Formats: sequence, C-alpha cells, structure tokens
Amino acid sequence: MKIGKYTLEVINSGFFSLDGGAMFGIVPKPLWEKTNPADSKNRIKLATRNLLLIDGKRKILIDTGMGDKWNEKNRNIYDIQQNEFSLISGLKRIGLQTTDITDVILTHLHFDHTGGSTIFQDGKLYPAFPNAKYYVQKKNFEWALNSSEKDKGSYIKDNFVPLMDAGILNLLERENLFDDEIECLEINGHTFGQQLIKISDSSNTFLYCADLFPTKSHLPLPYVMGYDLQPLITIEEKKKILKLATEEDWKLFFEHDQSTAYCTISSTEMGYRINEEFDAI
Ligand SMILES: [Zn+2]
Repeated sequence: MKIGKYTLEVINSGFFSLDGGAMFGIVPKPLWEKTNPADSKNRIKLATRNLLLIDGKRKILIDTGMGDKWNEKNRNIYDIQQNEFSLISGLKRIGLQTTDITDVILTHLHFDHTGGSTIFQDGKLYPAFPNAKYYVQKKNFEWALNSSEKDKGSYIKDNFVPLMDAGILNLLERENLFDDEIECLEINGHTFGQQLIKISDSSNTFLYCADLFPTKSHLPLPYVMGYDLQPLITIEEKKKILKLATEEDWKLFFEHDQSTAYCTISSTEMGYRINEEFDAI
C-alpha cells in the first residue's frame, strides 16, 4: 500500500502472551474468550506487528516489538515466540538491514513496543538501529523514568535509557506533524504521552493504533485493558477516534491482533462494527 510518498510494509516481529483478564479489564471471560481463547495459564496470544514507511530517502520504523534481551524466566512468563518472526528477519524479507533504518518512532516505552530498540553486545547496550533517530513523546519518556508502582514493570530502562545516553532519542511535544504525511496524536488513557501514528494523503488515512485498540476485540468501548492508568480517558479517546475513523473511512492498524492487520469500521445502531478486515497490507 502506498500513502503519499510512502510505501507501507508490515514487519511481523513475533508473538507473546498476556493475561486475558488484564487485556480486557472489566469484561467477563465468557465474552472475551470467544474471540481470544486463553491458554492453560489464562493468557491470550498477541502479535507484535510493526510498520515500516519507505520513501526514497527515509525508512521509518514504528515500534520495535519485544526484542531479544529476555531471560528464560521472563520468556516463559510472556511466552515469547520469535522463532519464525523477528524484527531482523522481517527487515531481511524486504531486503533491508538494521543500518538502513533512518527513523524509529516509538508510540510509548512499554517493553512490548520498544524491546527491539536496543541490543546487548559484549556486556553493553547499544541502539539496535545505529543510523536512526528515535522519537517518543517527552511526557512518556519522563513518566517512564519515574512510573508508578502500578506500571513500573512495563517500563524497562535498558530499552530506552541507552538511546538518550547516545543522544539519538528525540522528545516530541503533544500533537506533532512529523512531515506532510505523518502525524503523531497524543493520548493519555493507557499511559501518559502515548502517541498514535496517523499516515494520510488526500485519499487514504491509516492509523497505527498502538495500545488504544491493541486488537480488533478492543473496538467496543468498555473493552479497556486493566493496565490502563486512566480508563475513563481511554473510553473518551476511543469515542473520538472511532467517530473520525467512521466519518473519514480510516484504516485502523492493530499492533497486537493475532491475525488481523487492519480494518475499516462503520457505525450501526448496535455501535461500531468492523466493515472490512485484512490480514496483510
Ligand atoms: Zn502499552
């Protein structure tokens, strides 16, 4: 798919699993397990689906998945599966390597979005994309350094402090026009200073939904993750985005849905419904 000067490519960087109850907040299991069956430990399988925007000069990666700096204990807790898919092999499939990436836009610094941003080599941490500038919202970076007792497990400093130390992490403030086609939309329900990435031209709009709609099952308003710091704000943000997506026929891209890459939606008497869904771009 092409939007403006950019060609969009999906990079499947692996799978992991999180507790189904935490993923769906107050929604009872008999409802969510119909579409997201739980394993013996009550976990549901999630993808880390990244997006690459390519034009003549730039190769912009959005989020970096789980990365590979995990010990055995945590690999088991999160059931991390990267045998077939990884960020590196995903790039290779389209003829690229880590040195080709010019920009990395991070939606927020939770470990499943920024794990692949740094690598561990010879006892030291390095940026995984040595020629890239990285971007995150300033508010999220500041929160990540001093997060709360509720969410500090989600922010692993090895994933982002080395980027700041290397002088390549750029801190964005609020709504940001990255360029003519890319806009960063700040939202604050899930954590503070998450940014959704909107890619648009005169005929197409594509929204990288990150953790506002981690999967297509999160489209209904009450389906809000237990991880969210301000769930009522999340619901207001979902309403705003769903209205725009319906009116302007946006394509909503899911970072964590196991099988669906993106969908369009329509408004019905029963609420918002999926119009069309696609497993690849
Ligand atoms: Zn998150």
